[in-house]
Amino acid sequence: MAYLMLKSIHNKNMEILEDHSLKDFTSLRVGGNARYFGIIQSEKDIEAIHKFAKSKILPLLILGKGTNTIIKDSPLPRVVGLMEFTGINIKNDFEDSVYVEAYAGELWDDLVQWAVDHEYSGIEALSAIPGTVGAAPIQNIGAYGCELSDNLVNVKVYDTDLEEFVFLGLEECHFNYRDSIFKSNLEKYIVVSITLELSKNKPEIPQYKDTQLYFAGRKTRPSLKSIRKAIVEIRSKKLPDPSVVPNAGSFFKNPILEKEVVAELLRKYPEAPYFKVNDEQIKIYAGWLIEKIGLKGKTFGENVALHKNNSLVLITNGNATFKDIGKAKKEITELIKKKFDITLEMEPIVIK
Ligand code: NAP
Repeated sequence: MAYLMLKSIHNKNMEILEDHSLKDFTSLRVGGNARYFGIIQSEKDIEAIHKFAKSKILPLLILGKGTNTIIKDSPLPRVVGLMEFTGINIKNDFEDSVYVEAYAGELWDDLVQWAVDHEYSGIEALSAIPGTVGAAPIQNIGAYGCELSDNLVNVKVYDTDLEEFVFLGLEECHFNYRDSIFKSNLEKYIVVSITLELSKNKPEIPQYKDTQLYFAGRKTRPSLKSIRKAIVEIRSKKLPDPSVVPNAGSFFKNPILEKEVVAELLRKYPEAPYFKVNDEQIKIYAGWLIEKIGLKGKTFGENVALHKNNSLVLITNGNATFKDIGKAKKEITELIKKKFDITLEMEPIVIK
């Protein structure tokens, strides 16, 4: 493997490797060789790798822990920057809350642990979500009724068109269910840091069945630490650890449908779980649809399966190819479409 030394602007040499395998940089363990690959540890590195990609006339792809990314197996004509720019600091300290800035290369769960250690509430329901802070706004991570956007103040990005660092406020991020402006503009925006507003008040127990059951019968309000502990325990029972079983978390999004469409579904399947989103739209549980047609735990070819405890999670044995995953996705979505006339959408980002 050849490597080049790229002189970044602050005069530190940034190593750029050529033809570097990405397989170990995605949690599904899928991915071919990137034409060029470098590690980002500062704002200067971001500028340097952007300029390098521009000089090579190649698109730039930023990777965190690759927990929500599926990369094709064949050579990838791109410059890949692995985001390892870390740091957490308090920007403003108010009476009831704090503004906390966390850099893109921090592990998301380390940030949650930091917040809980400092007695700041707001993101404890997002405990144990794999991946980096930088990836969190891209898909507006969510769990147990809490989304990143509920606490977000702004996102600092490097705008590769303007070639400058800018802050995008909450409105400008166009957050939606597992979606944001960043998801459809991966080449334009490089997430540098996020600023969250965290509360100094005691947290509420998330209104989800599993968390309510965990604390059932308890007379006193649980502490922030015990809510985090509950979420970590619940998740570890239901979700495979990507460092042991390759997976990318939820592989399908829960469909959000017009209420008339859901009424039709409920006429046929009154037992189908559903959750009101607003006056017009209702969310249904994609996992229920998958289970209903008997696909939970099912294998697709030799290397891919749906997890036995969570039908939304596609797992591999570490030997799967991009094609194997595509075939499994096609089979599942076609069967769901045929049975329910509902189109399932994938949650991870596909890089071709
Ligand atoms: P669960 O609690 O068994 O619930 C099944 C589904 O029903 C979830 O997908 C959830 O939607 C929905 N749901 C349940 N109670 C709800 C309520 N009170 N209000 C609105 N929607 C409700 O789900 P799980 O598989 O064990 O996952 C627990 C949480 O972790 C979920 O929020 C899930 O999204 C999150 N999670 C996220 C990922 C990821 O990769 N993004 C992976 C695993 C789990 P929502 O998914 O919209 O919450």
